[in-house]
Amino acid sequence: MTPPVPFLAAGDPSAVAAGLVERFRTSYRRDPLGCFMAPGRVNLIGEHVDYNAGRCLPVALPHGTYVAAAARADDTVTVTSLQQDRPWQGRLGRLGPGQVTGWPAYAAGVAWALAADGVDVPGFDLLVDSRVPLGAGLSSSAALECAVALALCALAGVEVDEPLRRRLVGTCMRAETEVAGAPTGGLDQTVSLLARQGHALLLDCLDGSTRQVPWDPETAALSLLVVDTGVSHRLTEGGYRDRRAECEEAARALGVRSLRECHDSPGRLEDVKRVLDRRLCRRVRHVLTEMARVDAAVAQIEQRDWAGLGATFTASHVSLRDDFEVSCPELDAVVEAAAEAGALGARMTGGGFGGSAIALVARERLGAVTETVADAFARHGWRQPAFLEATAAAGARRL
Ligand code: ADP
Ligand code: MG
Repeated sequence: MTPPVPFLAAGDPSAVAAGLVERFRTSYRRDPLGCFMAPGRVNLIGEHVDYNAGRCLPVALPHGTYVAAAARADDTVTVTSLQQDRPWQGRLGRLGPGQVTGWPAYAAGVAWALAADGVDVPGFDLLVDSRVPLGAGLSSSAALECAVALALCALAGVEVDEPLRRRLVGTCMRAETEVAGAPTGGLDQTVSLLARQGHALLLDCLDGSTRQVPWDPETAALSLLVVDTGVSHRLTEGGYRDRRAECEEAARALGVRSLRECHDSPGRLEDVKRVLDRRLCRRVRHVLTEMARVDAAVAQIEQRDWAGLGATFTASHVSLRDDFEVSCPELDAVVEAAAEAGALGARMTGGGFGGSAIALVARERLGAVTETVADAFARHGWRQPAFLEATAAAGARRL
């Protein structure tokens, strides 16, 4: 048996923040105004439905991105990340689309989008550290944006009340789409900013409305295990674009604004087979069955029907693998190994083509599941995956 990889630690937020403040003092030779944290996330169910105006159900991870920040008297902007080799420096007024590239664009983009919203952002020094693995499909990008957003609001002397917190979702989305140049549907930023501890966030992408759903599998001695396959989803961003385009094409052919309309008025299902070719039929079948699975999952969570929820997870994976074709051998292997070792259910999560999978596992089976997954990866000669436990954490905050 392969020894299991140790779990990625979320760390104690106050301790991580205290350490970062210390490093800030060493790097910048003064005190930061404060330290701000925003969580990564994992989506329980509702995959590839966001851009079809469906519902999804993410939970915020205890793993977050931390930002220590201080204002400057000049218009210089400095961003240093412990996850990157070199600090970056720029100037206020030159932080917009096309002016910053690479990882600093996520932070610079937030400053630019906030300023565009009328927030008087001063020059600043930032120091970033993250417990969210980068590029694992756990939304390190939104965690970075949301932590920076809180930091810059504080530097500008703006209090983040509930309405502003909701507006910051759009601010962070603009940073990612317009400055960092990465397509994002807003799910990541919404949960990172609005999550409540012990809850999943039911997000309706039709109108942006949200509902907190109590999420406490721990009370039934269950754990939500996250497995980061280490396969970069970046390499296949084209696949994501293709699926979006296919869904738009299907909606056009069906004469609906979004596939959500087919979910809400099931009579439409008749049209699907008549109008669409076999490939588009399978794509639409995933989207519509996934929308139905979200409804089922919410009911199962509320009724504490954990076995039912596990089955719903696995059905979601099969649909993503066979109908939507966004899985990959590593994700399939996690799901298969988890089932073999007694998980209640498992599925890929996020856009697919790599990234992470989740499994609902009895605590006493956690060791067996991680070992079986690690073993399967070793057998294939793949790099070992990383494991973390997802308890539902709170949204972005000042520490
Ligand atoms: P995910 O959001 O799933 O982790 P993305 O590709 O959307 O993957 O975002 C990852 C990118 O975000 C990184 O490649 C980097 O550019 C930026 N990023 C995220 N976290 C940090 C960090 N702590 N420091 C610097 N850059 C970061
Ligand atoms: Mg991201």
